[in-house]
Amino acid sequence: MANNSIFKDNLFEGKKVFITGGATGMGLGFAKAFLEHGAEVLIASRKEDNLQLASEEAQKETGKELLWKVMDVRDNGSVTTVADFIKSEWGELDILVNNAAGNFIAPVSSMSENAWRAVVDIVLDGTFRVSKACYPLLRKSESISSVVNIIANYAWNAAPFVGHSGAAKAGVLNLTRTLALEWASDEIRVNAFCPGVVLTENVKSNLMLDEKTAKMFENYIPLGGVTDSNKMAQQVLYLCSSAADVITGDMLIADGGQWLVGNAFYQAGKQFLDE
Ligand code: NAP
Repeated sequence: MANNSIFKDNLFEGKKVFITGGATGMGLGFAKAFLEHGAEVLIASRKEDNLQLASEEAQKETGKELLWKVMDVRDNGSVTTVADFIKSEWGELDILVNNAAGNFIAPVSSMSENAWRAVVDIVLDGTFRVSKACYPLLRKSESISSVVNIIANYAWNAAPFVGHSGAAKAGVLNLTRTLALEWASDEIRVNAFCPGVVLTENVKSNLMLDEKTAKMFENYIPLGGVTDSNKMAQQVLYLCSSAADVITGDMLIADGGQWLVGNAFYQAGKQFLDE
């Protein structure tokens, strides 16, 4: 059985899956999980080296080839080029995961306009661009197709010290529900997925999550402990499976109950700024 998965190995046999930002962290975890369950997978992001490494890692671990393309979600031309590639390669798309993101700790009072714009451009505008470019391909899917937008558990509440990311993810959540309605008659489901804390390399460096801060995050997780990309991938597989064909415009929160009890970013950000 694929990587302790609860799902059957051929669950996504023949399905075509596109994951933005799929060369690192959770996105790569999603890519490997879809490959292990029979899907054809395309990942796209800015850094060619990372894409190459991801493809080698996926091949080594799953025995399957994935496709990759250099793409910047901030550049509409680059996004439409990848959509054209999907059209010529597959002719349709069954699953889109809008996972690409950028984030760093900064209080709004000292955040430059460029910093604000960069994060909103990747997270919110990027989700709009990629979703719109993929819409004609998702419509062509022979079965009900699925879009999963990756958000964060500060999207519907305050996002202290990550205000750019919070505002952008909140916009993505709203867009998720709008598209769920606008695209329901096209048999395209659109949902948001809210992961728990996963200590990916970029999270550790961009959010200054050293061991001490990570411990503090852990203390805010009622079910205990940070989680991992494999576990998060299982949630995304479920959301994209036919078992979830009655779910659209919804949000799956898989953070061990963290959002119910406190805002870890508030504590972590305060500590970071105090030091
Ligand atoms: P990650 O490793 O930093 O992955 C983000 C990916 O986005 C990178 O591969 C990056 O690749 C890509 N990206 C950034 N800017 C881009 C652009 N302009 N165009 C195309 N791709 C771009 O992050 P992660 O920790 O796995 O997070 C994955 C998702 O989960 C994100 O949406 C994040 O907000 C969300 N999330 C994470 C956590 C967590 O604890 N890790 C918690 C809640 C939510 P390039 O640099 O090559 O472009």
